[in-house]
Amino acid sequence: MDIKLKKLNKTIINCKKCPRLTNFIKKVSLEKRKQNINEKYWGKPVTGFGNINAKLMIIGLAPAAHGGTRTGRAFTGDKSGDFLFKSLHSVKISNQDFSKNINDGLKLRSTYITNILKCVPPEDKPFNNELIKCSNYFIKEIDLLKNVRVIVALGKVSFDNCLKIYKKKFKINKKFVFKHGRKYILPDNKVLIASYHPSPRNVNTKVITVPMINQLFKSAKKISKI
Ligand code: SF4
Repeated sequence: MDIKLKKLNKTIINCKKCPRLTNFIKKVSLEKRKQNINEKYWGKPVTGFGNINAKLMIIGLAPAAHGGTRTGRAFTGDKSGDFLFKSLHSVKISNQDFSKNINDGLKLRSTYITNILKCVPPEDKPFNNELIKCSNYFIKEIDLLKNVRVIVALGKVSFDNCLKIYKKKFKINKKFVFKHGRKYILPDNKVLIASYHPSPRNVNTKVITVPMINQLFKSAKKISKI
């Protein structure tokens, strides 16, 4: 792994800048959920993963309490990840259609997956000051992953927060509307694609379907030339 990215990830894993989130991670990891009661939870902030030369970046808002916070890898070991990786495999972005744990042999094709916020917030609702503090890590990821051409934002909250960070960094004042499949050119020429979040609620209510997400990733693949 690239030395700078390795250093950044080490800093993230040891970060304790948001006491509310650090305490929540501790609580989740000690209490656990029934089906994982015998497992040792990762119990720390969750970094991004994938290829430093990635042309495609996929972002969520934050790791799941019993997904990434348990397994130590974003979108790994939860229902959103199950839906996401079925799609990534079907469009040949990943080598397998599941993401269960860090030793499951998962490989991504020119892709990096991360979250805007590296710690799970209670009820999936971060405070603004927590997002501001953690945005520095996301900005560093964007700076280090120099070949990224396309960012797919999973869910409105990650889309909005990604734009908030870009607006601050590039001092832009343009209006962006969140709609599945909508594409925007960012000031650094990356293409931002909005996607409905592959959460169980969205999947069960058919807000997002297999053809919808597959089509979106096919398009992301084509634009990023991977
Ligand atoms: S959310 Fe980000 S800034 Fe806050 S403790 Fe976690 S890693 Fe650190």
